[in-house]
Amino acid sequence: MKIVVLKFGGTSVGTTEKIKKVAEIIANYKKKKYKVIVISSAMSGVTNELIKKSFQISENFSESEHDVLVSSGEQIACSLIAGRLKHKGFKSRSWLSWQIPIITVGKHKNSRINQINKNKIFKYLRDGGIPIITGFQGINNENRVTTIGRGGSDASAIMFAKFFKAERCIIYTDVEGIYTTDPNKLKNAKKN
Ligand code: ASP
Ligand code: MG
Repeated sequence: MKIVVLKFGGTSVGTTEKIKKVAEIIANYKKKKYKVIVISSAMSGVTNELIKKSFQISENFSESEHDVLVSSGEQIACSLIAGRLKHKGFKSRSWLSWQIPIITVGKHKNSRINQINKNKIFKYLRDGGIPIITGFQGINNENRVTTIGRGGSDASAIMFAKFFKAERCIIYTDVEGIYTTDPNKLKNAKKN
């Protein structure tokens, strides 16, 4: 299976117009006969806004609720991307971390991805689907939502590339261009 992981950062999904462009990029890979796994961050600014709200509620906002709150930005972005791909006639759906699941270990706000269950995503890819997966979040062994640290969706993408033995992992950031990297040789990441 020729798999590519495409990761979109906050700026690249920052508006609905940009999300339409992202859907075109994804569609192009699909047309090149790749099995495409998409990882998305939240739309730019969303995560910060959510954190602000938590401070308005309490200066000691619970860490487990923090993770539920701040991980919700990724859900929005993934749904919009999948919705656009469906609009264009592709088979696509959003996947939240608990639906896969993506298992993390460690503390809330700073967990680490330990394991990704491949079965459902592999089946979905084989059936021609384009999974749009929330970066930055996971679940722990108590079934609580976790996050893996600010900017963590890059790490989510790299873990997917590794677990699924992807041919390529491409990280799109509107600000700094496109990085391509062999998931096994991260130090050689190149900016195009
Ligand atoms: N949305 C999260 C953040 O702003 C994760 C990420 O962007 O990678 O930190
Ligand atoms: Mg980011």
